[in-house]
Amino acid sequence: APFQVVDVHDLLDATLVMFKAKIPAGVKLVKEYDRSLPQVPAYAAELNQVWTNLVDNALGAMGDKGTLTVRTERAGDLLAVEIADTGPGIPPEVRPRIFEPFFTTKPVGSGTGLGLDISYRIVVHKHHGDIRVRSEPGDTVFRVLLPLTVERP
Ligand code: ADP
Ligand code: MG
Repeated sequence: APFQVVDVHDLLDATLVMFKAKIPAGVKLVKEYDRSLPQVPAYAAELNQVWTNLVDNALGAMGDKGTLTVRTERAGDLLAVEIADTGPGIPPEVRPRIFEPFFTTKPVGSGTGLGLDISYRIVVHKHHGDIRVRSEPGDTVFRVLLPLTVERP
């Protein structure tokens, strides 16, 4: 997939459209976009995979009711995308392992345990960004940070 300059909101919307039929009636979708943010250099298809993994996890955590919030904001010379859910949260003993390949707490056959591993590699290794997570019961937030400019050697 080519490296191109994209509006991250277009990517987020493209992912959310894919999920539209899968969002339960009791789950509210809230978009808090800062549309004034500049476009970013990115591998668009791969970033869409990141949003897909994070939204899939958020919806899976909430089940049939809750609120999914997708937020963008500037964070210094980075752009932050947050995917937040009101599910039960990530238990403290699970938290250190969530980015490990094949780590899953889901029943056999329903989770590969690769979503966050792949997302981490796409964000950190391919975009020189970062993924952070904060979680407590009822409020789990995955925060993806992307550089606003291309790093020059
Ligand atoms: P999978 O979704 O296949 O289990 P992931 O790599 O996407 O694999 O996630 C790994 C684990 O991280 C999940 O099994 C779950 O325990 C935890 N996790 C990820 N996102 C959330 C979330 N939003 N709320 C609660 N737990 C989560
Ligand atoms: Mg997953």
